[in-house]
Amino acid sequence: MPRQRASGGNAGTLYLFLALWGAGQLDEITQDALSHYTRDLFAREDEALRAIRARSDAHGLPRIHIRPEEGLMLQFLLTAIGARRVVEIGTLAGYSGTWMARALPAGGRLITLEIDPEHAAVARESFEQAGVADRVEVRVGHALESLKALSDEGPFDAVFIDAAKRDYPAYLDWSVENIRTGGLIMAHNAFWHGRVVRPDWQDNPDVKGLRLFNRRLAEDPRLLATIIPVGDGIAVAVRLAE
Ligand code: SAH
Ligand code: MG
Repeated sequence: MPRQRASGGNAGTLYLFLALWGAGQLDEITQDALSHYTRDLFAREDEALRAIRARSDAHGLPRIHIRPEEGLMLQFLLTAIGARRVVEIGTLAGYSGTWMARALPAGGRLITLEIDPEHAAVARESFEQAGVADRVEVRVGHALESLKALSDEGPFDAVFIDAAKRDYPAYLDWSVENIRTGGLIMAHNAFWHGRVVRPDWQDNPDVKGLRLFNRRLAEDPRLLATIIPVGDGIAVAVRLAE
């Protein structure tokens, strides 16, 4: 589309708007294509992972698992730090749990927390079938209660947060206290499908929870943090030495 050079005033503003809008459109297409490229090249699902999504569907669970390229990112990060003891908050059908469990060495442990007993039952089946049940333990209950009990079993190498969005700040408090120096805090949905920056969503309690979480991650002097822009955004923080 040919564009005329605009000069100042309203025309300038309009031009800027069109340019940004155009760039936004292009960006979206490119981002999508690049995500697919990365996924197809690196994050290929095997039969066990595909079966977990199918099992989840068969039980009528929501389709809110992380995406393959996000699962691979978690697996990559856990492998990079040599994680042996990991906590997951929000199990669902065990899809993300399986990606992470595969990063653990023999004798490693993933403790995953789930409020819904039906989800937990489906997840246990998934872990069995994926051959990681020896490394994974599903605990049923409200995550904030389960975490309290888990404090006695730490410190942990990493925490992956993916449950109630409004509770993210509370999950963060627990995580900072219960991971080792060099340990990772990872959180799904850091962008919440773009709602974290949408003006019309700012009063939503989940958006508020996520924005507070992201801000505190950014500002906590005990952490070095960022958001990896894969999928719906994975917020990550490494615990620094005091
Ligand atoms: N991590 C999963 C998806 C998790 S979806 C994956 O990517 O495969 C969020 C899950 O958190 C749901 O199963 C939901 O039941 C659970 N959940 C929601 N609130 C919770 C709470 N307060 N305590 C524990 N689990 C909770
Ligand atoms: Mg999620």
